[in-house]
Amino acid sequence: MESDNALEKDVQIALFSMEIGIDHKMPTYSGGLGVLAGDILRSCADLSVPIVAITLASNKGYLSQRLDDEGNQTELPIEWRIDDFTTLISPKVSVSIEGRGVKIHAWKYLLTGIEGYQVPVYLLDTNLFENSDSDREITSYLYGGDERYRLSQEIVLGIGGVRMLEALSYTDIQKYHMNEGHSALVALELIKKMRNDYPDYTNEQIIELVRKKCIFTTHTPVPAGHDKFPASLVKSLLRGYLEDDEIDKICHGNELNMALLALEHSEYINGVAKKHEEISRNMFPGYPIDSITNGVHHVFWTSEPFCKLYDRYVVGWRKDPFDLRYVISIPKEEIVQAHGEAKKRLIDFVNAKHGIGMDYDTFTLGFARRITKYKRPDLLFSNPDRLVNSAKNTPIQIILAGKAHPKDTGGKELIKTIFKVIKRLREDIKVVFLENYNMELAKLIISGADVWLNTPKRPLEASGTSGMKACLNGVPSLSILDGWWLEGCIEGVTGWAIGSIISEGSVDQSDDSKDAEDLYDKLGQVVLPVFYNNKDAWAQIMRYAIAFNSSFFNSHRMVSQYLLNAYLC
Ligand SMILES: *Cc1c(COP(=O)(O)O)cnc(C)c1O
Repeated sequence: MESDNALEKDVQIALFSMEIGIDHKMPTYSGGLGVLAGDILRSCADLSVPIVAITLASNKGYLSQRLDDEGNQTELPIEWRIDDFTTLISPKVSVSIEGRGVKIHAWKYLLTGIEGYQVPVYLLDTNLFENSDSDREITSYLYGGDERYRLSQEIVLGIGGVRMLEALSYTDIQKYHMNEGHSALVALELIKKMRNDYPDYTNEQIIELVRKKCIFTTHTPVPAGHDKFPASLVKSLLRGYLEDDEIDKICHGNELNMALLALEHSEYINGVAKKHEEISRNMFPGYPIDSITNGVHHVFWTSEPFCKLYDRYVVGWRKDPFDLRYVISIPKEEIVQAHGEAKKRLIDFVNAKHGIGMDYDTFTLGFARRITKYKRPDLLFSNPDRLVNSAKNTPIQIILAGKAHPKDTGGKELIKTIFKVIKRLREDIKVVFLENYNMELAKLIISGADVWLNTPKRPLEASGTSGMKACLNGVPSLSILDGWWLEGCIEGVTGWAIGSIISEGSVDQSDDSKDAEDLYDKLGQVVLPVFYNNKDAWAQIMRYAIAFNSSFFNSHRMVSQYLLNAYLC
């Protein structure tokens, strides 16, 4: 059962995240937030950072996506066996939900770093015989159910998580890192714990102690994106845990805003890109919000052909991704060749699945992410005639993927809209929408496309990370200047911008039709001509995308910044 890893005793940082993309076979994540948490932990394991992570078991996963011929999405639960990957540990803890004691046990996964250091991840699970049937389901569906279900999950994650760490004898946690507002209840449990440990302290002193221990990373640039619960619901679920007047104190405007709860109790707060810092400061005036721009795990997201290439030319890159700067001296032909292999894998996969006859030489545009309105997956298809026109002399093929959240009816409609355009384009441009986007498919598409497209509505993309995965594989981005791309885009060198930079402080609601024009112009007049007519310049762009961007937008750099600015403070 329990391992006796001596290192655990030294663990000083605890990361709480509703979702973590640990292994592509474990459906404990939905998208960018979870994948990022996974990449942070992979880097911590490589760098021997003394961290432990808490998440939920998600016994039925997020969802498996099926699409019919019209693009109607249906969702299936994912049946998976958690004990194929993790081991059950013995401690059990309990939290109070609506006055009932809900028992929690945990599964332990060990994430092993490049030199053997292991980071434990505990997946909290309420599926115990002692619990009622409905309580047994609390940790089943990631982002499932209604508000009551979600708040119950957050009680398990935040309050149950702190208790589980205690039960596991992690007695020296110095920093509790709340990844997004879902885990903000950590702060409430820490207040309880401190009151117990320091009975003579004033309320202000207790809050100060808690603030010193808490770190909060916000990932959402819109107020509507933050978790909020009506005070009445909070009172009903947390009765017995907090008095009503205590709940009133943490509620604003009769609701509990999880981001505000986390902000009020954290000494270090960060957004996930420079621009996101600015947006967050405007959204939450008065809080000292910093930023640490996201990164991705360099080995995890590099395709096999590029791993082999880097192993030959930049031998230290696995241990030290800053070395990727020296990709600048790899012969261009070798980069082109490695990309050709990655592209062949993608095209073969697409053709095997869809029998669509895509070929290896045609310019291939990739777009895959959560399908929701602000990501504008339909922008590229808003004027099909222009697209067809661009493809006349410079052929294009397009590969798409992405799931819509079950309750995001707008997102589901977008998939159907895209399916209609795909049919309309059939004679002129081959387009496929691949089913069931996940980390495994992501790796295939981001490495096999020739250009990675991202068209979010500004300023709603807090960071975006898939473009960072693409550049590790020599795939430049064509993207709206938002999130990380404001930092990563050197026009015509590492990729291309759609539209122009918005000045600091201005609230830009980007204009769909203007952005679409910019996209078609850039694609037709700049990107496609270079691809087809100047192979050498193209190879240079691929090489710069890796050398300039992957040496920076990796999770080793991100974790180093967390250590410098938050964990070791
Ligand atoms: C990286 C990743 C994301 C995040 O992509 P963005 O471009 O940041 O939206 C979402 N889903 C999966 C499966 C990923 O691997």
